[in-house]
Amino acid sequence: MPSIQLQGKIFLQGTINALTGLHIGGNSGELDIGGIDNPIIRNTFNRQPYIPGSSLRGKMRGLLDRHFNNPLEKRVGRDVRVHECETPANYNGCPVCQVFGVVPIRQLSGRTMPTRLIVRDTFLTHESLQALDRADTDTDFTEIKTEAAIDRITSAATPRQQERVPAGATFGPFQIVHSLYTQNGNDLDNQLLTELQLFDTVLKGMELLADDYLGGSGSRGSGQIAFENLKLTFKSRECYEKVDLAPITIAEDVAIKALRQSDYTENVLKAISAE
Ligand SMILES: [Zn+2]
Repeated sequence: MPSIQLQGKIFLQGTINALTGLHIGGNSGELDIGGIDNPIIRNTFNRQPYIPGSSLRGKMRGLLDRHFNNPLEKRVGRDVRVHECETPANYNGCPVCQVFGVVPIRQLSGRTMPTRLIVRDTFLTHESLQALDRADTDTDFTEIKTEAAIDRITSAATPRQQERVPAGATFGPFQIVHSLYTQNGNDLDNQLLTELQLFDTVLKGMELLADDYLGGSGSRGSGQIAFENLKLTFKSRECYEKVDLAPITIAEDVAIKALRQSDYTENVLKAISAE
């Protein structure tokens, strides 16, 4: 019987800067009559906008699927098609499904690893909350952008509105947690190298996202974000055993590209073998 062991967790933190206005859609059904058509998602308790982990994760996964040319063979509802490997052979060759997880259908039962990636919700920084509060807009912490649909012949215009977190807002710290797993019986060093390559897939997804957009209306200017001041720490299995043992800081104040080019992989491996 194979067993799966957690070798440690990589924590990636940093800030997300909205370089352009950010629209991550909320539920317009919650709004009063007279509210705007196209509201953003907010925390129910304090009305503050935030970035759901599911939005970041979903966008990264979609961009990686396109990058790896993964087939979109699975339907979710009537209109949405997604990629999810359905055989062990495909799964074992697919970094996206290994990182983001699959629904364990029968053919895959007992043949997959646990989902490696967790992406937490990210909230506005204290500084941005204060700045947006002072900005005294009609809506809490946001701007209303009016666009116009133009008739291509008569030039008649129909205005439409969209709520956005304004450009310049900063969210953070965001947190990504990536687990490193090994299975008993096989070459541990090789497995760990493969695990760290899977983490590089996460960084690749972030890089793709920074060159794409988050939320709605990306082709019309919204949703350009930057991941900044990245900090990578590693918490080994031992840290959970020994309360005095602190996680190791592997990289600090770096950009995605610089992190991918750095020797963080070797430093994580060193931290594991030092145990
Ligand atoms: Zn796959």
